[in-house]
Amino acid sequence: MKTQSSDVIVIGGGIMGACTTLFLRQRGISVTLLERDRIGQKASGSSFGNLRRQGRPISQLPLANRSSALWAQLSESLGAEIEVELSGHVRVGYSDRPELVEDFTHYASQAAETGLNLEVFTGKELHERFPFFGPEVLVGSYSPNDGHSNPRVVASACARAASANGAHVHENMAVTSANKVGEDFVVVTDAGLGFTAPSLVIAAGAWSNSLAEAFGEKIGIVSRGPTMLVTEPAPYFIHPCLGVVTPVEEESIYLRQIARGNVIVGGSTRSPASTSTGRAIVDPKNTLSQLRQLRRLVPALAQLNVIRVWSGVEGYTPDGMPVIGRSEREAGLYYACGFSGGGHQLGPGVGEVIAELIDTGETDTPIEDFGIRRFNASTG
Ligand SMILES: Cc1cc2nc3c(=O)[nH]c(=O)nc-3n(C[C@H](O)[C@H](O)[C@H](O)COP(=O)(O)OP(=O)(O)OC[C@H]3O[C@@H](n4cnc5c(N)ncnc54)[C@H](O)[C@@H]3O)c2cc1C
Repeated sequence: MKTQSSDVIVIGGGIMGACTTLFLRQRGISVTLLERDRIGQKASGSSFGNLRRQGRPISQLPLANRSSALWAQLSESLGAEIEVELSGHVRVGYSDRPELVEDFTHYASQAAETGLNLEVFTGKELHERFPFFGPEVLVGSYSPNDGHSNPRVVASACARAASANGAHVHENMAVTSANKVGEDFVVVTDAGLGFTAPSLVIAAGAWSNSLAEAFGEKIGIVSRGPTMLVTEPAPYFIHPCLGVVTPVEEESIYLRQIARGNVIVGGSTRSPASTSTGRAIVDPKNTLSQLRQLRRLVPALAQLNVIRVWSGVEGYTPDGMPVIGRSEREAGLYYACGFSGGGHQLGPGVGEVIAELIDTGETDTPIEDFGIRRFNASTG
């Protein structure tokens, strides 16, 4: 079998694998990226595109803040138009949950300690600041430096930039086995090619379980499909991303309007998704539920027609937190997988942290809470 060698092999060309490859090359490390499909066509290309930091566990904010700084100059550093709009993000609560005023205020004071500044508005002040909200909206937490980007183009732009800088990027090439032989990982693909490297990064999204199991580590990712829709264009009047905070799944929608006028809506209930077929179904009931909630959040959008719906295969770990960092069982093995709802925003930060770990052996960004040890501990 023909074999190629590099310093690092990355499995999976979603936003995590593409960003990791990009930042490894920026450090002069030779890297091979292997993608079964086309770059960024799975979860990363079907994402809503939110660059939201607020609402995450506080322990995730240093990483999200690092990512935020990278997003601010990513378009320029890639030399590609990835439609980053840092036009703000508002989390809102409805009047039947007045406790959210206190919750948002408390969260804002904790977030400020990590460098994320939020402003909490209520009642009249909120409706003057954001006049498009429906009358049921009671409280809003505003994050002025967050926003959104176009998820369909980000991972491929990162992989193209990495490739132009010397990375070996292979599309339509699935990894069929990965083992450690002596000091090196040996990765075999369905194209009959072999790749060797002393470091291996598993960034295979919802498909990462079996790759981790090959090294004795069990993550237990399950797949679901968040439902998305996009409307016909309307005059551009909603600049920040919006998201509803509620324990009721049907109510939990989020939306963004792009400068071209279309409104993209996600959230409410999720559908089944399959890693075998790579498909996630859109259940029309979810779309109807989103439209009911859309009218409640921004009544002016009630008459817009939907022009497309879609979903994507998203991988959820048992505790909803990603797996980032070193393997506990195999030297040279790293994970960047198990990202569900907030993965798009984290992509550049995760890529830079993994590249830093491989290059220097350490990182200043706290990632202990995301170690694979928490799942190894429960599986023995
Ligand atoms: C509909 C939807 C909406 C979302 N909205 C948001 C949002 O608004 N904000 C946000 O922050 N996040 C959002 N997310 C989540 C975000 O998209 C994901 O967390 C993120 O894209 C995960 O990136 P990834 O690289 O880990 O996974 P993926 O993009 O799935 O990439 C993994 C890649 O690995 C490849 N692969 C798998 N197995 C192999 C193999 N054996 N050999 C070679 N390649 C392999 C796959 O083909 C795939 O391309 C959303 C997700 C979905 C599905």
